[in-house]
Amino acid sequence: MVEKYNPQEIEKKWQQQWADDKLYEVRDDDPRPKWYALTMFPYTSGDLHIGHWYNNIPADVHARYMRMRGYNVLHPYGFDAFGLPAENAAIKRGVHPFKWTMENIDNMRRQVKSIGAVYDWSREIITCLPEYYKWTEWFFLKLYEAGLAYRARAPVNWCPDCQTVLANEQVVGEGVCERCDTPVIRRDLEQWFFRITKYADELLEFEGIDWPERIKSMQRNWIGKSFGTEISFGLDHPGVAEKEIRVFTTRPDTVFGVTFMVLAPEHPLVARLTSPEKKAEVEAYVLKSRRQSEIERLSTEKEKDGVFLGAYCVNRLNGQKVPIWIADYVLLSYGTGAVMAVPAHDERDFAFAKKYRLPVPVVISPPGWDGRDIKEAYIEPGAMVNSGRFDGLPSAQGVDAVSKYLEEKGWGKRTVSYKIRDWLISRQRYWGAPIPIIYCKKCGTVPVPEKDLPVLLPEDAEFKPTGESPLKYHKQFFNTECPKCGGPAERETDTMDTFVCSSWYFLRYTSPHFEKAAFDRAKMKHWLPVDLYTGGAEHAVMHLLYDRFFIKAIRDIGIVDFDEPFLRLFNQGIILSGHQKMSKSRGNVVNPDDYVNTLGADTLRGYFMFLGPWDQGGEWDDSGISGMSRWMKRIWTLVLDEYKSAGSQGDLELARFTHRTIKKVTEDIEKIRFNTMVAALMEFTNYLGRVKDEGSVGKPAWDVAVKTLLLLLAPTAPHLSEELWQRSGYDYSIHSQPWPHWNEDLVKEEEITLVVQVNGKVRDRIAAPASITEPEAVRTALDSARVLPYLEGKQVVNKIYVPGKLVNIVVK
Ligand SMILES: [Zn+2]
Ligand SMILES: [Zn+2]
Repeated sequence: MVEKYNPQEIEKKWQQQWADDKLYEVRDDDPRPKWYALTMFPYTSGDLHIGHWYNNIPADVHARYMRMRGYNVLHPYGFDAFGLPAENAAIKRGVHPFKWTMENIDNMRRQVKSIGAVYDWSREIITCLPEYYKWTEWFFLKLYEAGLAYRARAPVNWCPDCQTVLANEQVVGEGVCERCDTPVIRRDLEQWFFRITKYADELLEFEGIDWPERIKSMQRNWIGKSFGTEISFGLDHPGVAEKEIRVFTTRPDTVFGVTFMVLAPEHPLVARLTSPEKKAEVEAYVLKSRRQSEIERLSTEKEKDGVFLGAYCVNRLNGQKVPIWIADYVLLSYGTGAVMAVPAHDERDFAFAKKYRLPVPVVISPPGWDGRDIKEAYIEPGAMVNSGRFDGLPSAQGVDAVSKYLEEKGWGKRTVSYKIRDWLISRQRYWGAPIPIIYCKKCGTVPVPEKDLPVLLPEDAEFKPTGESPLKYHKQFFNTECPKCGGPAERETDTMDTFVCSSWYFLRYTSPHFEKAAFDRAKMKHWLPVDLYTGGAEHAVMHLLYDRFFIKAIRDIGIVDFDEPFLRLFNQGIILSGHQKMSKSRGNVVNPDDYVNTLGADTLRGYFMFLGPWDQGGEWDDSGISGMSRWMKRIWTLVLDEYKSAGSQGDLELARFTHRTIKKVTEDIEKIRFNTMVAALMEFTNYLGRVKDEGSVGKPAWDVAVKTLLLLLAPTAPHLSEELWQRSGYDYSIHSQPWPHWNEDLVKEEEITLVVQVNGKVRDRIAAPASITEPEAVRTALDSARVLPYLEGKQVVNKIYVPGKLVNIVVK
């Protein structure tokens, strides 16, 4: 009798052994080709949950596979430790964010270690430690010197509960704070920005990187590049110096149909253009729109409203006076903050015009139009009408013709517009990397000299949220000396968005303890770019876009010399519980620790691999995990229970099965089809079980097959395979063995000759795989060109199949 499979015991034992032997420590000077496999580092918000494991485990399996394939694999781990959730949690619990964060990290590290991954823990990084954030500050200075970091007053998304500014990407759903679900309002503040818009065009290029189409299209939409025309409307208003209002439109062919102009409520002209009798109404409207988030304002659900300013501009093409309105669906941050309204040919403008009884002249003729009023906006192409010299022109040509005319007259120009805004990185919070800037009355904005980095986050600040940075009230931090003139000066008290910390962490892993710079240049050049990056798709327009921008920006500064940080990206799916996303509030969170402690990490690893296609995720299912546990036990017994041979007649077939399995498993891992990879290993196990019952192969053939099974299993179940490897008498460690190769001759399917008869007469002989099934054989026979003439005009009454040999078609 074989002793029982005891995963708790063997898993702890091997984890200790691997750590003692530094088995997974990565050497930079290793002569094998490099492979940088990176998994998104977790945010330090407490426990690791199933979602982290679903990211980490399959990525580890792939990294282990690459090691066995002969690559020097860097697969590091670290913690994204600054930011709002840590600070909010700390406030709630009355502990310091540093203490809370570091305790979380201890717990998370313990959890991560229990999965038995190949992480090289000597390379761990934690972004809230000064040895790390010193370099986050340094990067800020580099961007500042290059003109890519700047300060500007701007309306920002403000969460009244978190008391801080949020990036557009952090405002979700119906305009609520991503962190706390509070409706977000708008507010003006002096903010620091990174000039991501400068890279808008380059960020639209995905040449040379293998990324999911879904992420690329989300980034494209977020960047929102559109070609159009900027048109100048004349302005002649007493006391207003500006002589024009410019709008951006993709439909210059409709310009003769403009019946009103709409400005964003925040537009700088609004106050000056408002007539005295409209003042009160306009001010009330501006105030109301400030209380709404951009998303609320742009919502298609909401009925559009606005206020007439009592002022006019002029459509230069037809000389008409155009009334100027404000409406909250126009945003100052998009385009020029003004739009021309063409109600006949735009749905939103149409609804607005109907509501306020504004004229709706048709300027693009719908098919068969009889000149009467239209019942809804006509947005399709048509012939231009009521458009002066352009009448009769198809609207598609009108776009060009009108633009050209405007350019000739100096009334406009063709241009490109983008939706993406610069990246707002200021946070009025304590728990972040300080922005290394000093304000001096004499010298202005002065960057902290490199030698004075890091600007340390004081430990004893009162970090409760007040709407202003808590650092403002920390006198020793706030009051400083100007590095230029030595006079009294003040420090910038905002801290950086935590996405700045995560924009360069993959560079730091290459030399995590390097003191002279953000990284050792030679090591960075050796490892970067990342070969395979794995993580959640929810980061599509934040982290995954910021990182690309950051690398392009520091490339232009001369810090790195590649264009894209991640050559291949793979997004794992989501694990559901009760058909819902797991969340603490729903109470359906599965704690991985419970399963590691009972069934073992290998079972959990196998379960995650088998659950479904990795990019699709699936439903957490306890019976599925029990099935996986049974499989592990079967392998245990299969290998350890003595094999008794009764013959060798099955040797060749076993070798064929083994090599087909090697091929299937290898190709599936390469294509990241882990579930079918595990299925192939299970079939192999079943086959071996049958062979064992029959004793149909010789002992040497059996040993080779079992050895192969263990090697193929090693990435998925590293502990079990190591234990069985050792007990089978092979040299330590299985994880340092080369990946098995398959022999093409053995993989090739055996062929048979399928004889096809019609009414007992041989009509064809067809080569077919030995594994052909009855329906396949019959179909092959019926499709044969040599057989078809004998079937014509006849009725097939029977099909007789002799397995592996013959199909007889009976016709009458
Ligand atoms: Zn909030
Ligand atoms: Zn000064």
